[in-house]
Amino acid sequence: METNDPFETDRLQMVAAQIERRGLLNERLLTTLRQTPRHVFVPDEQRSFAYEDRPLPIGSGQTISQPYIVALMTSLLNLQGGEKVLEIGAGSGYQAAVLAHMASSVHTVERHQPLADHAIQILAILGIQNVTVHCGDGSLGWPSAAPFDAIMVTAAAPRVPQPLLDQLADGGRLVIPVGSSGVQELQLWTRDGENCQHESLIQVSFVPLRGAHGWDSSEWR
Ligand code: SAH
Repeated sequence: METNDPFETDRLQMVAAQIERRGLLNERLLTTLRQTPRHVFVPDEQRSFAYEDRPLPIGSGQTISQPYIVALMTSLLNLQGGEKVLEIGAGSGYQAAVLAHMASSVHTVERHQPLADHAIQILAILGIQNVTVHCGDGSLGWPSAAPFDAIMVTAAAPRVPQPLLDQLADGGRLVIPVGSSGVQELQLWTRDGENCQHESLIQVSFVPLRGAHGWDSSEWR
């Protein structure tokens, strides 16, 4: 826990009111959220809103997800501590920091170089050493580090990208918002041998996944 953290009270309250009260009770997840300074990841002018119950702008036209969505998507991966995780859409780096506490190592891919650079800088300042930030098209996954025990996509895709399913380890879990501009469904995919299955959970609203298996800007501006 940080000392002299002016946002600690806000953060503890966020976890109690937005996460625990909505039924996410995994103690490792709650501890991680209590210890991860979300305000450090957002732009200066957004800091005072960092623990509010909503997404926030992070630059390059992108957003950091609402805390509850970060928590829900993390809990769906069912991380036990030993996993190698892939995140698509590093953005601010906050979600990657949460995953880093809950798993063994994290690879995260971001297509906007300024966001990737900023995420690298903040993760280093916080001393988080088990995250590797890559700049590139994450809709192709990150084949050189595959397979992954868990994959999280934090941007909305037209359909689950086949390369991501291909890079999912046996028994692995993949969480992804699927749908078009406005509203998408959050899907949880699991691999059992050659067989991949999914269930649809709740409706969500994310920025678009771009790239080879993402949305074209003519289809979603
Ligand atoms: N997880 C982030 C929020 C991500 S917002 C956080 O905790 O702050 C979605 C991000 O996905 C954006 O930063 C966007 O630039 C990125 N993105 C969209 N398409 C991508 C692609 N094909 N490859 C990598 N990143 C992508």
